[in-house]
Amino acid sequence: MSSAQVGSSQGVGEHEVLDRVAELAVGFAADAAGYDERAEIPVVGLNALHDAGVDRAVLPRRVGGLGLSYQSFGAVVRILAKADPSIATIWVMHAGAGVALAELTGDSAGSFFAEEFLAGKRFANALSEPGSGNRFLQPQQVAEPVAGGWSLTGAKRFVSGSEIADYLLVNALVSGAPTFFAVIPDESVSIIPIWDTLGLRATRSQLLAFDNTVLRAEYRGRAPGPGDFAVIPAGLPAISLGIADAALAALVAHARSRMILGKPLAEQQWVQHEVADVQVRLAAAHALYDQGLREADSASPAFFSTLSRAKYLANKVAVDVAQLGVRVGGASGYLRQSPIQRHLRDAEAGQLMAYSTEVLAGEIGREVLGAGSPPPSP
Ligand SMILES: Cc1cc2nc3c(=O)[nH]c(=O)nc-3n(C[C@H](O)[C@H](O)[C@H](O)COP(=O)(O)OP(=O)(O)OC[C@H]3O[C@@H](n4cnc5c(N)ncnc54)[C@H](O)[C@@H]3O)c2cc1C
Repeated sequence: MSSAQVGSSQGVGEHEVLDRVAELAVGFAADAAGYDERAEIPVVGLNALHDAGVDRAVLPRRVGGLGLSYQSFGAVVRILAKADPSIATIWVMHAGAGVALAELTGDSAGSFFAEEFLAGKRFANALSEPGSGNRFLQPQQVAEPVAGGWSLTGAKRFVSGSEIADYLLVNALVSGAPTFFAVIPDESVSIIPIWDTLGLRATRSQLLAFDNTVLRAEYRGRAPGPGDFAVIPAGLPAISLGIADAALAALVAHARSRMILGKPLAEQQWVQHEVADVQVRLAAAHALYDQGLREADSASPAFFSTLSRAKYLANKVAVDVAQLGVRVGGASGYLRQSPIQRHLRDAEAGQLMAYSTEVLAGEIGREVLGAGSPPPSP
């Protein structure tokens, strides 16, 4: 994609990006069940996204990209997640790590990482670790000083797309403070193949072991700041919203086509009432998310808090929609060949990804009740 296609001012050309993603998503949706079944990373789809200019679009202008707005970014992730939430998850993590390294190492290697991102190299977030639970920005593992930087021995887990990653965004404690680094995986980084999961199988979010891995001083980043493009907080709600959209579409298709005693299931009143309930709550989750994206685009300080609430609601509604899909689908929706069961498995994963619904509930509840200061937002 040329810069002329995307445009020289924010907003111009974002439609082209969305159109291209929507075109690609048709094929992603058709192939999603197969990748899920095989637990295989959809590399072809991820490369097609890069070739369509989506990576260039998400990289902020200040680091050499085209600076997609938050609202368009949210639309991209929703489209992808409705088609194949594993592609959406890997891409969000890839964009999160790539954009973060371009921004956080801006004083040193930032332009190198921006160029590698634009060239199609793959990035992954290796942040969660066994001891930090859901608080992936609070690493417990200590990096010890060595010549040229610091040395990390430990583990990072559930690293989506790690098997195809050229670069990892890693955090560790340096002099007691959480510190970010870029790591180029070498023989000191090994993959422990734990990923055989219920849902989001094609993300292949493996466990990584680090054995005296050098965290190089020139690849050390600053702490994330208020002006950085917040890919992960803005992307995660959309993954659940896309899954919920897909689950609702599958439910509706089934209810309209399944004939029981000569009438479509869609004509049964209990189905109509239950569908009304989930559809309205799903629309509310989309609206809250849209509000958060608008706030982010206008640099309102409220946006993290709104996006946290949107993730919480989207995670829960996605599970509700998908569970209703299983009820409406009956035994035929329970068959492996049905998308209904896959949407339920995928929906469950949304609430596990940090911050989990439990962690978010604590933050939101504390805030509403004025019960002590919530932990810092990412
Ligand atoms: C599909 C998928 C993809 C992922 N991709 C990535 C990735 O690319 N990079 C990456 O770094 N991580 C990734 N993660 C990890 C994820 O973001 C979480 O950090 C990780 O799943 C937390 O560990 P756990 O699931 O074992 O839960 P645990 O931390 O063991 O949590 C168990 C329970 O305790 C609750 N809990 C945990 N911590 C707290 C707390 N501080 N306060 C209150 N309750 C708490 C949880 O909500 C949960 O109910 C991914 C996870 C999934 C499921």
